[in-house]
Amino acid sequence: MNSSTRAASSVTPVLISMHEADNVAIVANDGGLPAGTVLPSGLVLADKVPQGHKVALADLADGETVRRYNVPIGYARQAIPAGSWVHERLLQMPAARALQGLPMATRPAPALAPLDGYSFEGYRNADGSVGTRNILAITTTVQCVAGVVAHAVSRIKTELLPLFPNVDDVVGLEHSYGCGVAIDAPDAVIPIRTLKNISLNPNFGGEVMVVSLGCEKLQPERLLPPGSFPIADERDSGLDVVCLQDAAHVGFMSMLDDIVERARPHLARLNARRRETVPASELVVGVQCGGSDAFSGATANPAVGFAADLLVRAGATVMFSENTEVRDGVEQLTSRAATPEVAEAIVRELDWYDRYLDRGRVDRSANTTPGNKAGGLSNIVEKAMGSIIKSGSAAIGSVLAPGEKLAPGQKGLVFAATPASDFICGTLQLAAGMNLHVFTTGRGTPYGLAACPVVKVATRTDLARRWHDLMDLNAGRIADGENTIEETGWELFRLLLDVASGRRTWAEHWKLQNA
Ligand code: CA
Repeated sequence: MNSSTRAASSVTPVLISMHEADNVAIVANDGGLPAGTVLPSGLVLADKVPQGHKVALADLADGETVRRYNVPIGYARQAIPAGSWVHERLLQMPAARALQGLPMATRPAPALAPLDGYSFEGYRNADGSVGTRNILAITTTVQCVAGVVAHAVSRIKTELLPLFPNVDDVVGLEHSYGCGVAIDAPDAVIPIRTLKNISLNPNFGGEVMVVSLGCEKLQPERLLPPGSFPIADERDSGLDVVCLQDAAHVGFMSMLDDIVERARPHLARLNARRRETVPASELVVGVQCGGSDAFSGATANPAVGFAADLLVRAGATVMFSENTEVRDGVEQLTSRAATPEVAEAIVRELDWYDRYLDRGRVDRSANTTPGNKAGGLSNIVEKAMGSIIKSGSAAIGSVLAPGEKLAPGQKGLVFAATPASDFICGTLQLAAGMNLHVFTTGRGTPYGLAACPVVKVATRTDLARRWHDLMDLNAGRIADGENTIEETGWELFRLLLDVASGRRTWAEHWKLQNA
């Protein structure tokens, strides 16, 4: 007997079940568990089951529905005794769903009791929104000004921020649009409204300041038309714009001086603000994952889902996104929609994205990879559910198209359609009005955003240990058998309230900013 066999036989077996209605659970232990292992429930393993793979919790009849995440992930091809390894060859896969004939708002909304008494310390804005940070943003209308704005932001940080200690940061909102882009083309509305709506993010306190070149197609008044946003101070006549081609600018330094001096009154107003106690319902939390692994859908994402339910119960807004991550579980989204109209909006957004990918001749690979299968994911529905579980169990109350902003009072669970790419998803959630971001990772990514705190949740203890100064919460303790999904979800919920009140995340500590 070698040492690893001894270790395997002496280890406490840990199974992770996603829902009480599930008839399979997965093995969490490193290296899996050998046949004959007695599980905590008394069930004895009939087979050796690899880590991340499924065990039948009850006898499954031939043709019986196999449920995980309380969702059918397949049908038994033969009778499967309790304690058996349920590998993908034993499962008849559900067909990949087309976007026609879907169940629309068919699932009754779960009874989620209101959760009262939770609050955080935030910055109340003139438009009624609440910021978790107090940041000056400088909007740019065209990529041409990016270099100048970068210089100006650097000077503002060095020369002005020390004078206004209550201001957290200053950020330049850079992008690659504005001039050559055909701004009247049908899809150009997306980057334009994204830029506009990010400028109005609650963490920017309603202080809108724009740097323009002068000759660009996307003129400041077109980006932010008068009356389209509240002015922070009624003494201001309108949009505050520094135009670099203005004849008054003589030389580079005069442009920089102008931007820096124009920032001063904005900083002074931001600096005078104070945090006040606001209900947890003012949180607007965007969730996403990146660098996922086999445990993303078993530890971190379910814990985030549990916290998402707590947030919805507290009256907050929770956005989930990442079209390509959820596309193969579309049936689960449309059936969970609160109304048929919401279900139709989900289909509209996913259909738009399917066609967008088709135009780019990008193949939406509908099959799980060999690596997914080796990790225990039998098929596309199970894989998608690992991502969708971040959204918790509430009914999907509304849908946002990419770059759209939440309406005042748009609370509850929102599907905000975005690509899965980390910084693009984060950017579009910022445009929607996100004031707090939750990001789960298994392989590890040092992601952060300039405009909003990012709380990073590790799927495994190994990652949390190695990246001890990058990960804010370790959901790997669920796989270690030390914490339940519910306990970790509550821990995350409380951490979110602390971070919203000003506690720094690791990404903020190191100033890691992908967008
Ligand atoms: Ca992502």
